[in-house]
Amino acid sequence: MTATVTYPDIEAAAGRIEGVAHRTPVARSSQFDERAGCTAYFKCENFQRMGAFKFRGAYNTLAKLTPEQRAKGVVAFSSGNHAQAVALAGKLLGVPATIVMPKDAPAVKVAATKGYGAEVILFDRAEESREKIASRLAAERGSQVVPPFDHPDVIAGQGTCTKELLEEVGPLDYLFVCCGGAGLLSGCAIAASHLSPGTKVIGVEPAAGDDVQRSFRAKQVQSIAMPDTIADGARTQAPSELTLSLVLKHVHDIITVTDAQLVESMRFLWERMKLVVEPTGALATAGVLNGPFDVRGKRVGIILSGGNADIQVVSKLFT
Ligand SMILES: *Cc1c(COP(=O)(O)O)cnc(C)c1O
Repeated sequence: MTATVTYPDIEAAAGRIEGVAHRTPVARSSQFDERAGCTAYFKCENFQRMGAFKFRGAYNTLAKLTPEQRAKGVVAFSSGNHAQAVALAGKLLGVPATIVMPKDAPAVKVAATKGYGAEVILFDRAEESREKIASRLAAERGSQVVPPFDHPDVIAGQGTCTKELLEEVGPLDYLFVCCGGAGLLSGCAIAASHLSPGTKVIGVEPAAGDDVQRSFRAKQVQSIAMPDTIADGARTQAPSELTLSLVLKHVHDIITVTDAQLVESMRFLWERMKLVVEPTGALATAGVLNGPFDVRGKRVGIILSGGNADIQVVSKLFT
């Protein structure tokens, strides 16, 4: 793979999503600052359209398609936020979207995806692989597959949230970003290295799903078994060659937090800051509070990546 992503790609993405994606607010909390001893700026992507930053990358990718490609539609594979992001971007741009979801995906997510006008194809995890369905659909229809993180246009789109944050609050000492397949982390790190070169960018993974940390240390892609963690947006088994190369180039370190630490940070965000953040969205906050970095006296950026929490599941976590 020769494709890479640079800051001008993020600038171009920002132009494409302008007026379509929300310029999300930056939250402050004197209680958090007191507790962590730092000055923290929370970028609230839980308030992004469809409830997560993924809208940025999906919209940027679909907006770049040629009229011929748009007419043939797009295919995505996800039971989570990426499904809704591609469905909504498709609806706004008039691109037919087909989303392949496992049969056991939560009914609310299937309904939300259909609600944005996408065609949903359910598959049986035990019988078929999503890759097979992908290649079959793409071949039959001549449509483009939009992956959740392994794509330069997706990564450039995700980076726009850090561009906005740095433009609003100025240079930072640290930027903490949650990490699944590292599309968001890659994009954010590229934006930070251009706009605030002194910033140490830290990726935060769930302890059970440490594929990017392992790959970062080994300097080559390492795969793990399907991780068991409440951070469902970070249940990836490996980064891609592209995201790992960008992480190795621009990211200072990758750390992990436990599910118990995640729940504690979620509780803080919900109770004290009144922010509805999903488990994966609290990874960066948990990384600041529990990680090895001494942030006292520092200016710290924290990406809250999404807010699509299932209230029934979350309420059990809080009891
Ligand atoms: C997808 C997702 C992530 C992980 O993003 P990657 O680009 O795969 O690292 C984190 N948080 C939320 C809310 C997500 O939907």
